[in-house]
Amino acid sequence: MQDIFLSVRGRVLLNVEALNMTESIGNYVKHRKVPVLVPEKDGFITYYVPAVSGESIAHGFQKVLAEEAIKDSIPVCNLCKNGIFLKSTNKKVVKEAFEGEPEKGQLEEFVVSKCLVEDIGGFLYAEAENIKRTSNFFVGYMIPVKEALGNVVVESQLHSRYALGTPFVKEQGQMIYYVELSSAVYTFGFDLDTSYIGKLTFQYNSAGKEVLEEKERVRRIRTTLEALKLFLLEQMFGAKKTRFLPVGEWESLAIGVSDKVWTVTSPFSKNYIEKSEKKREKVNYNTKLYIYKADVGSFEETVVDAIKESVRRVSES
Ligand SMILES: [Zn+2]
Repeated sequence: MQDIFLSVRGRVLLNVEALNMTESIGNYVKHRKVPVLVPEKDGFITYYVPAVSGESIAHGFQKVLAEEAIKDSIPVCNLCKNGIFLKSTNKKVVKEAFEGEPEKGQLEEFVVSKCLVEDIGGFLYAEAENIKRTSNFFVGYMIPVKEALGNVVVESQLHSRYALGTPFVKEQGQMIYYVELSSAVYTFGFDLDTSYIGKLTFQYNSAGKEVLEEKERVRRIRTTLEALKLFLLEQMFGAKKTRFLPVGEWESLAIGVSDKVWTVTSPFSKNYIEKSEKKREKVNYNTKLYIYKADVGSFEETVVDAIKESVRRVSES
């Protein structure tokens, strides 16, 4: 098999979205906001803009991953199975998640063999002895693209469930409430490194040791790639989608499939696709680029082809 590094970068237009809310103050629910710094004239300027956190994206992906694992009969722990990603935080959690503890040997080996989500997404066991497994996939904040920074809006919308004229609101009706909505073209990033999937990482003297046979590693990676395909095609990230389903579409997307670490350049800049193509001319680890630009080609085809190539490489004997 050939281990791969898959790198996804894109720009997605999302109108009237409430994908990542932070605290509510009384009846007012706030959208997450972050500071973004950009060069301007002789100095820099800071914008406070709406954002979607990497944790939120990771949650969405791990949810799809757990579902795909169940479908493919790959082990997932009791908690991850239900979208509860406590991920072996402590002894109690491990007991509940795996209906037992490792008898001997190390915890990482035990968890990796019994839960795909924690194999791929890592965990942190915070007992007297801390044990850490770093995630094999990488995500970050979605922020508005550079040229949109000055035009991004966050606007609170009034909602009400009052039914005036009924007895239910005479004494105490439900309060009116406000939800902050935002509209922007957002950056998107997701990397997947398969080289440590199904292998130990934590202890220096055993890092890289295979927990699973190669056949099983390949099976797990294929399931992970299928999950990523679904995640991208169906935009399975973000919250509050039952009543604030965003309106929008992908503006562009670039996926790099390589034999070693190779990332697509940042979609914060407009010309990231051209920059990535130039990068590939200079640095290339059997790197293939799959590109979608609005109205040229098909978004779905780009995703499907990149995943197909990834599956082909890892399945190669
Ligand atoms: Zn788990």
